[in-house]
Amino acid sequence: MGSRKQPEPTVGWIFQVNPKKYLIEDYFRAAETQYGKPENRIYWTIQKSHKGIPTKPAIGQPIFIWLAKGNRKSEPSLIAYGTIAELPTARENVQYKNKLGDEFWTSGNSKIYALECGIQLEETRFNAGIPLSRIKREPALANLRIAKAAEGGTTGMLSEPLNASQLQVLSTLWGVENLPLHAADLPEPPDRVSTTTSRIIRDTQLAIEGKRLYDYKCQISDCGKTIELPGGRKYAEAHHIRPLGGDHAGLDIRENIICLCPNHHAELDLGARQLSRETLRLVDGHGIGEEFIRYHNEHIYGKIK
Ligand SMILES: [Zn+2]
Repeated sequence: MGSRKQPEPTVGWIFQVNPKKYLIEDYFRAAETQYGKPENRIYWTIQKSHKGIPTKPAIGQPIFIWLAKGNRKSEPSLIAYGTIAELPTARENVQYKNKLGDEFWTSGNSKIYALECGIQLEETRFNAGIPLSRIKREPALANLRIAKAAEGGTTGMLSEPLNASQLQVLSTLWGVENLPLHAADLPEPPDRVSTTTSRIIRDTQLAIEGKRLYDYKCQISDCGKTIELPGGRKYAEAHHIRPLGGDHAGLDIRENIICLCPNHHAELDLGARQLSRETLRLVDGHGIGEEFIRYHNEHIYGKIK
């Protein structure tokens, strides 16, 4: 292909499975019916050293699952859609150890060298996904490795990042309406904040729900902005009023989370704005804890250097 350009930001993912090595259909079924609440959580094994991870996944990013040909007769295809629910972490740190799906490997899984990435499955389409032949017809998807590899690839490409235009086309093919894009809510905590994985996970799931609750509109009452993306998607950011982890030790509860436009998010993060309940738009059933507002005004407002 032509000249080399700067890589575009990663906004979504394709994770691949080889049906010869892993009984993915059984795993999906277990996630949907056997594992218990929360339903549809699965874990994806990612090699620590894998070169296919140029950027880290972020909570809430869309993820499609690619079924390579392996020993199957049918075409390779995208068979499931979900969102990143837990950042890649060592096996012992995952939120739901009973959902790792070890029982579905047909041969050994080199667990020692792997991380597990949590996925919230939204929809599985075993026989009605997006086949390789359809993907190959889309110019925007021509450079995907799954489109170029013989038989849709089998090894050495367990995860493939998607840029915005690739994700847009895949979402349209899949039929995901209004696919929300999520900023990395807490991808790399600043050095001064040490966090535990489980704390991040619990919170960010709620953060995603919080943004949906406000239809991705900024809760600062004289703002109300959302960012409309091509294709009708919306974008907003979730903010933990009292930050999680480290010295802040904020709580992962709805009363500590607000939905903001990027400008107001930055203003609050940088301590450039005071908070009060009167300046926040609230929907029925969502209250903001006065103690978190107080914390912001006392420990963050005007205190960030
Ligand atoms: Zn705003």
